[in-house]
Amino acid sequence: MSVSTEQRRQVVVVGAGHAGGTLAGVLRQQGFDGTVIVVGAESDPPYHRPPLSKKFAAEDEPQWLRPLEFYSDNNIELRLSETVVRIDRAGHVVHTAGGDRIDYDTLVIATGASARSLPIPGNDLRGVVSLRTLGEAQELRDGVVRGASIAIVGGGYIGLEVAAAARAKGCDVVILEREDRVLARVASSEFSSIVTEFHRTRGTRILTEVTVSEIRGKADGSVESLVLADGTEIGCDLVLVGVGAIPNDKLARDAGIACESGITVDGASRTSDPFVLAIGDVTHRIHDRVDGRVRLESIPSAVEQARQAAAVIVGSDVLAHEVPWFWSDQFDLKMKMAGILTPGTEAVLRGDPSTEKFALFHLEPDGTLDSLETVNAAAEFMAGKRYLANRTRLDRQKLVDLGTSMRDVTLAESATVVST
Ligand code: FAD
Ligand code: NAP
Repeated sequence: MSVSTEQRRQVVVVGAGHAGGTLAGVLRQQGFDGTVIVVGAESDPPYHRPPLSKKFAAEDEPQWLRPLEFYSDNNIELRLSETVVRIDRAGHVVHTAGGDRIDYDTLVIATGASARSLPIPGNDLRGVVSLRTLGEAQELRDGVVRGASIAIVGGGYIGLEVAAAARAKGCDVVILEREDRVLARVASSEFSSIVTEFHRTRGTRILTEVTVSEIRGKADGSVESLVLADGTEIGCDLVLVGVGAIPNDKLARDAGIACESGITVDGASRTSDPFVLAIGDVTHRIHDRVDGRVRLESIPSAVEQARQAAAVIVGSDVLAHEVPWFWSDQFDLKMKMAGILTPGTEAVLRGDPSTEKFALFHLEPDGTLDSLETVNAAAEFMAGKRYLANRTRLDRQKLVDLGTSMRDVTLAESATVVST
């Protein structure tokens, strides 16, 4: 069923995070003059989460997504510290924990994801922290002080970024990863081993294929050590749990909206209900460049979907999907990745990891670029992202030759020209 723009006068967004906050702004930029209400469970207005794991130790002000006056200036009703507890799809109304009812013509679910907890004894001790919100980042900052021993469970982006920041603050850091390598979910094995080496040479201990079975505490209720499945005990002052994120899709599931690993949406952020859209980390989305549905859990994807939702609401064209891309800052290493790695592709290294500037290109058998991972290599990233967009075939010999410009690394018969 298609719904005309005239029928979408009251837009209610559940979730005042990156996706929800972006959508509200884009709607106004695109001239939507209906009512926009953003309901957020946190007490803070939308803010940037990436600095929480990278610069959490700084005493900086939070980085707000928009200046605080933006919402009132643009007639966006921001209802903070309010949690939506039920969606009544038949009545087009949402119910809040405080007992309010909010009517909608279009509902946008932007409830994000929550940090997965570690289901082991001792996970509630003082000094065991997850990292998703500003408040948690502040708690982490208080524990990350010179000389403290920090144990990090999970070697994903959160674990590695916090490890880098904690080492820079003079902490003793150990990472405990269940898989046989760090970044197992998101990076190639070649990239994982280079990143592992970066961290080890900077003094972080990384233990892989280990299971943390218990967290032990002192008599005062604060954390004292971690115990591994083989009985090894590791003393620590603080435990950071960075073991993944779980989509906050319960509201949608309870309302009978189709969900799988998150809320099922199409390539324009539409759910199974024509009056309900969903955007950001909570979604299990279609992406033109990925087989099947995917959870992208990234800022570029949240922003792209916010723009899709705005287009659906105002009745304009939904743009073609951008090549998925990701970034991470660890020490002085600027990492940028693009594309979703296909297992079995060939990794071609351009540059030397020991110089801390290199790019890994993952090629299909015919040379078509599948994905890339770069460190401190802006030109390679920019050109590679465009080659990915154009499905360009690259020449392995030229790629490994630093004397060959990124403009000239395509296979001879490949027509695409890239300017860097
Ligand atoms: P969120 O930003 O999580 O917002 C969802 C909001 O909805 C939350 O405020 C939540 O409280 C609220 N909510 C949930 N349920 C309800 C309800 N029932 N009622 C009302 N409100 C509700 N991505 C990158 O691309 N690059 C990075 O470098 C990067 N670094 C990160 C570092 C950290 C520490 C974290 C935690 C994430 C990082 N990410 C990064 C991921 C990125 O922040 C997320 O992809 C992005 O925030 C997703 O936006 P979202 O709006 O979907 O979810
Ligand atoms: P993640 O990338 O999923 O990494 C978590 C890691 O912890 C995985 O390797 C996981 O292995 C491992 N793990 C799970 N359970 C474990 C256990 N019991 N013991 C030891 N290791 C365990 O998630 P994250 O790093 O926690 O990040 C959370 C969210 O924030 C994600 O959405 C992420 O994308 C986002 N984030 C992004 C950035 C960025 O883009 N730069 C930075 C920070 C955070 P398994 O695969 O076996 O579960």
